[in-house]
Amino acid sequence: MTDFARLTAQETLNRNDLLAILGARDISDIEIIRRAAEAVFLRQCGSQVYLRGLVESSNACSCDCLYCGIRKSNKAENRYTLDVDQIAACARQCAELGYGSMVIQSGERSDKKFIDLTIEALRRIKRETQSEAQPDGLGITLCVGQQSRETYQRLYDAGAHRYLLRIESTNPDLFASIHPGDQTFESRLECLGLLRDIGYQVGTGVMIGLPGQTLEDLAGDILFFAEHDIDMIGMGPFVPDPETPLGGEACPSVADRVRLSLLMIAATRLTLRDVNIASTTALQTLDPIGREKGLKFGANVIMPQVTPPEVRKDYQLYPGKPCLDENALECHSCLGARIAFAGRTIGYNVWGDSVHAKRRRSHSMLRSAAE
Ligand code: SAM
Repeated sequence: MTDFARLTAQETLNRNDLLAILGARDISDIEIIRRAAEAVFLRQCGSQVYLRGLVESSNACSCDCLYCGIRKSNKAENRYTLDVDQIAACARQCAELGYGSMVIQSGERSDKKFIDLTIEALRRIKRETQSEAQPDGLGITLCVGQQSRETYQRLYDAGAHRYLLRIESTNPDLFASIHPGDQTFESRLECLGLLRDIGYQVGTGVMIGLPGQTLEDLAGDILFFAEHDIDMIGMGPFVPDPETPLGGEACPSVADRVRLSLLMIAATRLTLRDVNIASTTALQTLDPIGREKGLKFGANVIMPQVTPPEVRKDYQLYPGKPCLDENALECHSCLGARIAFAGRTIGYNVWGDSVHAKRRRSHSMLRSAAE
């Protein structure tokens, strides 16, 4: 029998420790793990939850990921792209609500029109969201997929300072089984390296409960996050979409995917300690209070919806996406109550960079001062 109190008190966890945590099923063992992860979070990061208003700027996509509802072969999708005015309006709304940051997410597009539009939107957001409370304007995270070095650099120069690119699975065989042959694990990895070189705070993550995924794969994912010095993690349960090739394949039950996702959050917090971890929409899709549970297991970032309600239903990566009809204000008031329910307070008007990224920045400043 594993002594979880002893195991979770360790400063570092190895592969076997992670396997034990991820394999926990007994409710009292899970509660010991949860408490330990929450304690590490409170000690390392304080108690605040950071908000990133989520704008889904386009559902057009040039990729054909076998799991994703907006893949290019899905002809049922009504494709849209928000214009610069619409994105800037969403950003101003985030600033007015006191969200310190926003995330711009889209399908995979590297066409000139889309990149130019995104760059103009970034510049407008930076200009139009400055205030006494936020003299530097909103912090901006991009999640617009694989791009060239030049594009990443242009997006950074225009004002984005964090980038989320999920590796989806760090087992190259599993990665290959959920993507078409022209999308490779190596090129995703290379993109993560480019983002780091340019100076972004780098986020990545995986889907949890994929067909054929093992606990060894998930333990390997956490070790990969640590090895690559990742600043922020966005991961959540796989939600099968019947309109996709992977939608009909066997995967763990909903309850198992929720439990595994919460244990992944806890195990990642216990291993990486001072990073930001998002409690994702996919968790809320499978469990109405999944996002709040994510906070209790060590997550500290939530991404409230600010996408205009009229296009929100067209950005469905999987069925059952919550908050389809609510406007940003309604999402906001519901969110305050949900975060209070999880016993946390909201960090208003702050970018909410991870402690990990702040530590790295001050180490590199000290190093260059010494040189
Ligand atoms: N195109 C960009 C990229 O690939 O990084 C950003 C958008 S992409 C749709 C955002 C994330 O949605 C993916 O990284 C993937 O992990 C997640 N996703 C897509 N389909 C999903 C599904 N069926 N279940 C759970 N997550 C899914």
